[in-house]
Amino acid sequence: MTREILHAKLKENFGFEKFRPNQEQIINCVLSGKDTLAIMPTGGGKSICFQLPALIFPGITIVISPLIALMKDQVDSLKANGIAACFINSSQSSEEQELHIQNLKDNKVKLVYVAPESLSFLENAFSQITVSLIAIDEAHCISSWGHDFRPAYTNLGYLKNRFPSTPILGLTATADKATRVDICEQLNLKNPEIFISSFDRKNLSLEVRPALDRVKQIIDFIKNKPNESGIVYCLSRKTTEELAEKLQKIGINAKAYHAGLDNKIRSKTQDEFINDDCQVVCATIAFGMGIDKSNVRWVIHYNLPKNIEGYYQEIGRAGRDGLPSETVLFESYGDVIQLQKFASEGLNAEVQLSKLERMKQYADALSCRRKILLSYFGELVSDNCGNCDICKNPPAFFDGTIIAQKALSAIIRLQESEALPVIVDFLRGSKNASIYDKGYQNLKTYGVGADVSWYDWNQYLIQLINLGFCEIAFHQQNKIKLTSFAKKVLFDGEKVKLTTVLKIDKNKSEVKERATKTTTNSLFEFLRKLRSEIAKEEGVPAYVIFNDATLKQLETQRPMSDEEFLSIDGVGKAKLEKYGDVFIKAIIEFQKIKKERSKKEGSTYKETLELFKNGLSVEEIAIKRKLGVPTIISHLAKLYSDGHPIDLSIYISNEEISKIAKAKIKLENPNALKPYFDFFEETISYDKIRIGLTILEKENLVL
Ligand code: ADP
Repeated sequence: MTREILHAKLKENFGFEKFRPNQEQIINCVLSGKDTLAIMPTGGGKSICFQLPALIFPGITIVISPLIALMKDQVDSLKANGIAACFINSSQSSEEQELHIQNLKDNKVKLVYVAPESLSFLENAFSQITVSLIAIDEAHCISSWGHDFRPAYTNLGYLKNRFPSTPILGLTATADKATRVDICEQLNLKNPEIFISSFDRKNLSLEVRPALDRVKQIIDFIKNKPNESGIVYCLSRKTTEELAEKLQKIGINAKAYHAGLDNKIRSKTQDEFINDDCQVVCATIAFGMGIDKSNVRWVIHYNLPKNIEGYYQEIGRAGRDGLPSETVLFESYGDVIQLQKFASEGLNAEVQLSKLERMKQYADALSCRRKILLSYFGELVSDNCGNCDICKNPPAFFDGTIIAQKALSAIIRLQESEALPVIVDFLRGSKNASIYDKGYQNLKTYGVGADVSWYDWNQYLIQLINLGFCEIAFHQQNKIKLTSFAKKVLFDGEKVKLTTVLKIDKNKSEVKERATKTTTNSLFEFLRKLRSEIAKEEGVPAYVIFNDATLKQLETQRPMSDEEFLSIDGVGKAKLEKYGDVFIKAIIEFQKIKKERSKKEGSTYKETLELFKNGLSVEEIAIKRKLGVPTIISHLAKLYSDGHPIDLSIYISNEEISKIAKAKIKLENPNALKPYFDFFEETISYDKIRIGLTILEKENLVL
């Protein structure tokens, strides 16, 4: 098959302009009739690798998939692209199954999705249908080496004997070397070609934060993303429920999800999330396997995951559409302790503990995190990624010898019998019960580190543990003990290098957020609403209509004709015919509304200006126009900026302007009003700040 034909098919049927890495090679291999194993990260685009050949082969493609929920989504997506497909599983009535089987016999569908347990339903029909390709999704489930073994998969080896000349394509997102070999053997693949894609997901940013005050951090994070879907992974069922409740209380549309909930509730939550009706799911790792939602914009790990495989798979659920997406992992010592306990008590303790250790090393890393992740999967990269917290904020080292000496000698004074929080309280001279009950306030170095914050002391102590000067006695109530290295610091003058503690720079992240956030009255939002209405009408998830990447392109390119619409990535022939008209109409309507709104806005300023010229005060104008005083002030500020002769100086003193000018230099985020309001501890009103900034900007004043 020539390249041109393959590309034309990709565009016509799926709307994509070009192949993602390895897709074309895998497709060619499958089309040549060879057995193939494709290893690609989540979101890498595995589906096209069998969906496109299915359209070219004369017969039927059987897709084995373990997840019933996913089957429906995939079939819906195919249908939205005008491709005949169906699924057969135990959730259907026997009449329904019969109907699908008849359609297969009549060659009316190109793809059939089947759960491995349901393959027997097809057995009788096999002799009457031409099977051109067998695709086995989540192929690692066949291997007991993998982390997700499913007994029903073990029978799949018979397929090669049953259809010796039909190519088999195995697909998986996780397979180490041993699992890879096992998959090929168990599926009886003949000289399979193996394709391993890079596991790098460049669009995912990586960040690790200390877990102090994590609920507040999570709330701040989500508040900055009012329309963006995300998942918070928690270790325990209880945490998922508690966190969801806390988020709900402050008005965030969040739900809990874990295996202990009623089936109905679980599938309702999953559906709502998929359909953008629930913004945040607080879940255990039970959530996500059956979800193909392409616009998950962020994933947070409330707790440290057990291993890097799981972590990578979970963050991989963000940004399948290729758009920038964020991931944040909270690291706490409490979690490490708990996970160590679980691992040491469970099966295969040694392996699990060493996997956990690798996870911890990743979280404690002082060099590019992506390099660490990729090297874990056997990929070596030379350049730093530039999209992880370490690359963005490289740690700065300083001479931390005195800090280390204070901490280590405190541990001695407390006779190595206290856990981390008490040591910090002791260093800071806290007057709480854990100190006073034991009389620690009378010891010599009590309060010697009062100049360092509680948060920073925690971080320094963790660094000292990571550097090997002290350790946690996990089996003795987590008491901190010194190691032999500590002596070198305390008695032999050894220098200790620590890294400065990074503060979560809220202002900075707000600026970034604001720059990327889609405003509620943007064309993107307008089209998102339209998409959601259509999706509800058709009973499919929103991303089946178009994914976010396609909506973003529609927003920037604003196509006005069929031809222009077809040039958008994600629009194929079927979708052009189905949705072209409504979306083009919506874009035109949006532009009309915008125009009218700006005309109206122009006239609202004019009205204020007229009243102002007639000598009315701000308050009088507000009453007359039934608008708030701040609105009128903002009108005047805008009119003043536009050059109208309005004397704003009557609303603000020179001293106040000068204060605002000084704050403007100091503040991290001088473009928003709130940082000023906070900076002045609420002594200068928002109105005055707005006026002051307008004057400074207009006059280009720097004081
Ligand atoms: P996987 O099964 O590997 O996790 P999918 O097959 O579900 O990934 O694809 C992930 C997303 O990428 C989907 O939204 C899909 O439409 C999109 N996609 C796949 N191939 C391409 C391509 N060549 N160009 C643009 N988007 C693509």
